[in-house]
Amino acid sequence: MHGIAPDKAERGEKVKKALEDAGLKPAEIYLNRYPHELSGGQRQRVVIAAALVLEPEIILADEPVSMLDVSIRAEVINLLAELRITRRIAVIFITHDLGSVGFFADRVAVMYLGRIVEVGTMLEVLENPQHPYTRALISVIPVPNPRLRHERIILQGETPNPISVPSGCRFHPRCPVALEMCKASDPPMVPLTKTHQAACLLLVK
Ligand code: SF4
Repeated sequence: MHGIAPDKAERGEKVKKALEDAGLKPAEIYLNRYPHELSGGQRQRVVIAAALVLEPEIILADEPVSMLDVSIRAEVINLLAELRITRRIAVIFITHDLGSVGFFADRVAVMYLGRIVEVGTMLEVLENPQHPYTRALISVIPVPNPRLRHERIILQGETPNPISVPSGCRFHPRCPVALEMCKASDPPMVPLTKTHQAACLLLVK
């Protein structure tokens, strides 16, 4: 379809290479299998191979591991991390799982209701969050140590309908530190460091 290999034998070789790069080795075992003959993790690897065959510079992976068993998630995340190095591919990894963000990301952008509200390096965002929404998200990441207790910020209400975005700061109906002015002014992105920015009126100097 993409005309990347007019010759049939060449196409076959490209498919085999992509399958093997996606961890399905040897490729011959998998070439003629139907989807129901593959596990969930193997099916996800086939999807990644289908992207690899086009030799992309960027892969946009939207919740790539959310439907997988926890035991297989690490394998697929490791595979994507490896492809960044071996094939020099940039990965835009969309997820609700902040735990995997800490493991995988170089840079993190946090979105609320269709807008980026904080962006920075992984350490800046996860260790020093500045937007109240990011702080709430990070406060509820499970910590596998019962001795480590920290305050959990539980947001009230539901995310509003995206076709009816609240006035001012779109996060104000749920923000635990909102002020009156937040109902009227949409906060700009405030630079905090060269690489870290957040959209909150409390940060405007
Ligand atoms: S601008 Fe106001 S409502 Fe928005 S995040 Fe900051 S404090 Fe909360």
